Amino acid sequence: MALAPTAAGQKLAERVARASDVADPRILAAFAQVPRGAFLPAELQHRAEEDQALPIGLGQTISQPSMIALMLSALDCAPRHRVLEVGCGSGYVLALLSQIAAEVFGVERHAELAERARDTLSKLGVTDVVVQEGDGTLGLPGHAPYDRILVSAGAPAIPDTLLAALAEGGRLVMPVGSPDAQILVTCERDDKGTLHYRAGASCVFVPLVNDSTPPPREA
Ligand code: SAH
Repeated sequence: MALAPTAAGQKLAERVARASDVADPRILAAFAQVPRGAFLPAELQHRAEEDQALPIGLGQTISQPSMIALMLSALDCAPRHRVLEVGCGSGYVLALLSQIAAEVFGVERHAELAERARDTLSKLGVTDVVVQEGDGTLGLPGHAPYDRILVSAGAPAIPDTLLAALAEGGRLVMPVGSPDAQILVTCERDDKGTLHYRAGASCVFVPLVNDSTPPPREA
């Protein structure tokens, strides 16, 4: 559902445009339409218009708006697309995606964050987004394939299961690298199934935790 722009959202959209150089009107309109404060803990709501990552509890963060703009720009979503966000945290990016794409799915490993995201989205009237608790490295297979996959947490490599969940002509954007420094990588699957990779901006995201791989046993 399309949300109405707010003065605070408009201000953040202008800040994001200056900081990221992203000029796509659909992306900037989404920032103007989604009230970021609603996705923040009460004590941080007064900082909603800052172009900063902020804590959302359980050691996780709501991403920096200008970085989200770069990710959305790399993702190149169209109104007909089915999109998955892996690591949807507060649900803020899902709300932005709901203003741009047709079908939006989010997966989050912390049940408490998934529950809160669902609650925030429904209070805003964003009822057409599905939030599921679970390990997003498995690619939420029930709704695959996806035209677009956005991974909002970093890892040394893109999980194969996520690449397998991409539709023909699909595109995945993910921070790839070490825990303290990653590069935003865009991967596109062409109509012959070949994958094409492109490197983008430097970034630092919380780690993508692989719950399905047991930790190595001590010797
Ligand atoms: N876009 C979110 C970013 C949240 S931070 C926002 O703006 O709020 C990244 C999130 O990825 C965290 O909430 C973390 O719990 C989650 N995460 C990490 N590994 C995951 C996994 N394997 N599956 C699902 N979620 C994961």
